[in-house]
Amino acid sequence: VKRRGGNGFRFYDRTMNAASAERVALEADLRHAVERDELFLEFQPVLEAASGRIVSAEALVRWNHPRLGRVPPDRFIAIADETGLIVEIGDWVLNEAARRCHAWHEAGFTDMNVSVNVSAMQFGQPRLLESVRDTLARTGLRPGCLMLEITESSLMQDAESTAGMLRALRNMGVRISVDDFGTGYSSLSYLKRFPIDVIKIDKSFVRDLCTDEEDAAIVRAIIALAHSMRRSTIAEGVETEAQIELLKRERCEYFQGYYYGRPMAFAQLLERLESQDAP
Ligand code: C2E
Ligand code: CA
Ligand code: CA
Ligand code: CA
Repeated sequence: VKRRGGNGFRFYDRTMNAASAERVALEADLRHAVERDELFLEFQPVLEAASGRIVSAEALVRWNHPRLGRVPPDRFIAIADETGLIVEIGDWVLNEAARRCHAWHEAGFTDMNVSVNVSAMQFGQPRLLESVRDTLARTGLRPGCLMLEITESSLMQDAESTAGMLRALRNMGVRISVDDFGTGYSSLSYLKRFPIDVIKIDKSFVRDLCTDEEDAAIVRAIIALAHSMRRSTIAEGVETEAQIELLKRERCEYFQGYYYGRPMAFAQLLERLESQDAP
């Protein structure tokens, strides 16, 4: 080991090493996570403002690590994306989400929809089309019940291939939403060019909606823009009644957030569906 002058340097080196060592270890474990059955999905309800009913759920992946316990997606999705492991994980998520949504249908909730997050790397690969086609064929899910959530920044990568990919997905009958809307460096004109169904207003704008005039102005502008292009909006990160009141006044169509339910197990969401239909 080389001797360094200041302690600051050594400390810096050591933390860097610890961080990259942890990363390497996680990456190695992640390679086996799918085959070892360590991944599972939770589902967060999405409610329709007009009816107050659950009409959809967002599938969110979780990793049950044998030693570390639950590793949140923010800690492993980026690794998966950079290493290409996201392709295998993404296929698993897609298939599992579709299978679960089909199961809600079989239980009698035939109008339920499910949405699945697609990472930047997945969206950049033609293989995504095959994965979606295979998933629909294998699970028997109606294409219109599957929504893919693509982040604003993924959409901005390459206009030509983005347009092609979205058109191909649209032709299969699946729906598209723009995730984390407002956080990217958006050229809003893409909303006009791309076949997008739904805009998800990022939770960072919803959080202080009722106290921060600028956030309120941004949310109002996003909803107005979406409506002028005949797109609908989902507000994510909804936690309070005051936020809901304000969003309803602006005619936001769908709500998702802790106020209505945290991400939950498949069976728990099924119970929620059953209880909303109970006499
Ligand atoms: P996201 O797509 O923006 O998902 C919403 C995140 O906000 C989820 O975090 C959810 O638990 C959280 N959330 C929902 N309601 C509220 C609320 O009312 N307040 C607050 N503060 N947070 C709320 P989660 O599950 O930890 O996921 C984090 C991110 O990981 C997701 O952000 C998404 O980008 C990524 N991710 C999750 N599952 C997948 C997946 O299957 N594939 C890919 N590519 N990415 C995924
Ligand atoms: Ca999402
Ligand atoms: Ca989001
Ligand atoms: Ca996010």
